[in-house]
Amino acid sequence: MRRIFFGLLIAAVVFTFGCKEKKKENKLPRVAIAGLAIESSTFSPAQSGIEAFHARRGDEIFSYYPFMDDTAATRQRAEWFPTLRGHALPGGIVTREAYETLVGETLDRLKENMPYDGLFFDIHGAMSVVGLDDPEGDFIERIRKVIGDDVLISTSMDLHGNVTERLAHYSDMITCYRMAPHEDAIESKKRALTNLLDRLESGLGKPKYKAWIPVPILLPGEKTSTRIEPGKSLYAKVAPAAAREGVIDAAIWVGYAWADEPRNRAVVMAYGDDEEAVTKSAEELAQAFWDVREQFEFVAPVATLDECLDRAIAFKEKPFIISDMGDNPTAGGAGDVTWTLNEILKRKEFKKENGPSLIYASIPGPDLVAKAVEAGIGETVTGMVGALVDDRYCGPLELTGRVEAIKEGDRYAETEVVINIGSVDVIVTKKRKPYHHETDFTDLSLYPREADIVVVKIGYLVPELYNMRAGWLMALTPGGVDQDLERLGYKRIHRPMFPLDSDMADPDLSARLIPLADE
Ligand SMILES: [Zn+2]
Repeated sequence: MRRIFFGLLIAAVVFTFGCKEKKKENKLPRVAIAGLAIESSTFSPAQSGIEAFHARRGDEIFSYYPFMDDTAATRQRAEWFPTLRGHALPGGIVTREAYETLVGETLDRLKENMPYDGLFFDIHGAMSVVGLDDPEGDFIERIRKVIGDDVLISTSMDLHGNVTERLAHYSDMITCYRMAPHEDAIESKKRALTNLLDRLESGLGKPKYKAWIPVPILLPGEKTSTRIEPGKSLYAKVAPAAAREGVIDAAIWVGYAWADEPRNRAVVMAYGDDEEAVTKSAEELAQAFWDVREQFEFVAPVATLDECLDRAIAFKEKPFIISDMGDNPTAGGAGDVTWTLNEILKRKEFKKENGPSLIYASIPGPDLVAKAVEAGIGETVTGMVGALVDDRYCGPLELTGRVEAIKEGDRYAETEVVINIGSVDVIVTKKRKPYHHETDFTDLSLYPREADIVVVKIGYLVPELYNMRAGWLMALTPGGVDQDLERLGYKRIHRPMFPLDSDMADPDLSARLIPLADE
């Protein structure tokens, strides 16, 4: 009844202001931009604050998107209202204060230029916030309360994000990357925005149907690269599913394994104007994912740390690289877990200076760094390292060794020192830093190509390390992004879940049609 009343009211308004409405049609659509991107582990005691997001505001936001340069064709297609967008390196759970501050500012900025025809919601989808489930769902719901349900929202995500029914409901259009590593990140964002502009310009407005299918699979990124099978063939099915007549876009989310919420699992979606086509595309992709679930393996061989060290010591070529995966700071680990370093220093092979040479990258230790800087190169120092954030597996270590190098001024580490202990060179930093480039080592007079063994806090090797490796194993070490999912001890995810409940029955993979935001 209310609907009919409003219908009549709108008809009357349009009739009365017919001329004005016509003029408005020639105007560019008014499109706002907002979003926060981070993947944050709830299994790490580390926390991410507001500064982690490096938030950009207003016109600065265009710099995220090469296709939105001043002269770019896309830029000419709308009147833009960029509000606030933040993008953080993966890390620990976001503090409630940081989240509320950033969301509050976004909403305030949105209020300044209402009304809008569209919103480009550019998120990652794996943000965890202290005391709040489904932050991205909460964020978009609060945006809807401000801008209204009529505005067309196109949500752009990482395929490691999570899609709840709520996020699907408040998004009119939703998509994610089709490649991991994410070589198509910019292309995906452009697709999300172009689809939004197309619908606004054509006057077709909200796509009529959104199909959402939760797939009870939870896998780490190190098993689901689209460069290798079965991820490669599975993701190759997305473009044809999206190209079906009556479908606008389709997507598969692998989801994020290191947060313990009911939303953490794989999801498939498709949307468009043809109910049957949308349903078919989503169901085909969901079934295809389920059919290959047993085939996902780690992208490189994995082993316990002791097995990795045994293999590395026996290996004839240089260097043998070991990924210290569990505390990978670029996936959400604290980066200061001492467990692996402690195990290495306990091994008798490395006690003497003429043992196999090993570079360990890296451990934060402001105490030892200060002492090394004071003592100087060539001196022997003793100080504490690690476990200031994550001390669950091993406490802070007291190291005694000779100072081999000191470097000031790194934007992440601030100060880096190299401490030699037996045949091990340990990189100790003031603040945490990922070691992904050869120059990160050579700047410290360390030469990884000539080392027998290089141990790095990382998962899948970045190209520079991958290309220099003679041998490589990924060690199943403990930490906030432990790759041994069984060991994480989930309490809140949906069960049964593959592969945790590997003998589970086939799930219901029929499409759930999600109502539009204004229904
Ligand atoms: Zn990702």
